Amino acid sequence: MSSTASKSSADVISVFEKYVIPNYGRYPICLTHGEGSHVWDAEGNRYLDLFPGWGCNILGYSPPKVVQALQEQVAQLIHVPNTWYTESQGEFAKQICSRSFGKAFFCNSGAEAIEGAIKLARLHTPEEKYKIITFQNGFHGRTLAAVTATAQPKYHQGLGPLVAGFSYAPHNDLEAVRSMIDDETCGIMIEPVQGEGGVNLPGDGYLQGLRDLADEHGLVLIFDEVQTGMGRLGTWFGHQKYGVQPDIMTLAKGVAGGVACGAFIARDELAPSLRPGMHASTFGGNPLAMTAGIATMQTIEEENLLEHSQQMSERFRSHFEPLLEDLPILKELRIAGMMIGIDLTVPAGPIVKRCMERGLLVNATHDTVVRLLPPLNISIEDVDRGSEILIEELRSLASES
Ligand SMILES: *Cc1c(COP(=O)(O)O)cnc(C)c1O
Repeated sequence: MSSTASKSSADVISVFEKYVIPNYGRYPICLTHGEGSHVWDAEGNRYLDLFPGWGCNILGYSPPKVVQALQEQVAQLIHVPNTWYTESQGEFAKQICSRSFGKAFFCNSGAEAIEGAIKLARLHTPEEKYKIITFQNGFHGRTLAAVTATAQPKYHQGLGPLVAGFSYAPHNDLEAVRSMIDDETCGIMIEPVQGEGGVNLPGDGYLQGLRDLADEHGLVLIFDEVQTGMGRLGTWFGHQKYGVQPDIMTLAKGVAGGVACGAFIARDELAPSLRPGMHASTFGGNPLAMTAGIATMQTIEEENLLEHSQQMSERFRSHFEPLLEDLPILKELRIAGMMIGIDLTVPAGPIVKRCMERGLLVNATHDTVVRLLPPLNISIEDVDRGSEILIEELRSLASES
């Protein structure tokens, strides 16, 4: 692929400095195009990306079926509001729900899906119940309710007063959750595997324990599957990996192969509580996102990517696991499908920079965790090459520590 850039990274950065609000820490690189697991910058450098699109590019860059579906759709209908029916919205809802449960509502992002789920939990339970229990180091997005649900004080600074009714339980502590439930509690919300918080896996029986608590107390159990949904854990949705049925699950990130799209799925019994006029999204369920979503699911199915990604997950594990023995800066390895966390005893930030200089993109989260969210269709060669570079850099960092 040739570069389509007309400006250098430095030129683009100077425009940003003048016109774009500087709320993101950005790498000083302008990306121009991508294909599969690779992405190029304005200077023509190629990177192998083990964290494409922050997890949104679940099929890597420019997946052919998604590109083709979008190209056909864009010439037909870009947007119509939800006062009309479109075939694609019904079809994508069917594709998701027939592989999971219930009925779908579409929006455009993860935070919006969370907002909708919170509203539905409050609407579905008696009037006096409004409290929702979430979990330390969880992440649910940046709108006011979603950020309040996010039990990380660093994201709350200066924003108060926050939304009333949220309390935070320690992760993997069922008794703590039990003790926090009172007569005003309406729901429990958790990521099946915490993503941004450092790839934190649920303990054995923990999610089922939450299901049982919810049933005992008449609570709505919400699984935030924005990151764990759409095949990320090797099952269509994360709750299926753990065999636990939530009342609501939220989706976004990879759900439409990189096109902005969010959704929440509610069990049939809950769905009518979202009465006409109670909730809406102007762009939600638009034909571009829906056709991209359908093509994403088709690709995962036709190319057997649930199975393939499980094999690639095991391959990553086989590369990293031996290091636990001989690399003292490696504290813990946490892997669920294509969600990989390598927890270090030292800050993970320098690894990101060193890998980038060698043409490999990875992420650091929660200070010490190197996080990978590889595309489900990553090749064996790219798993091996990416692991090799990452391991070399981990070894070299260890030798300096
Ligand atoms: C990214 C993320 C969100 C927020 O999604 P946005 O699209 O950025 O609003 C919510 N929940 C989880 C688990 C996420 O990983």
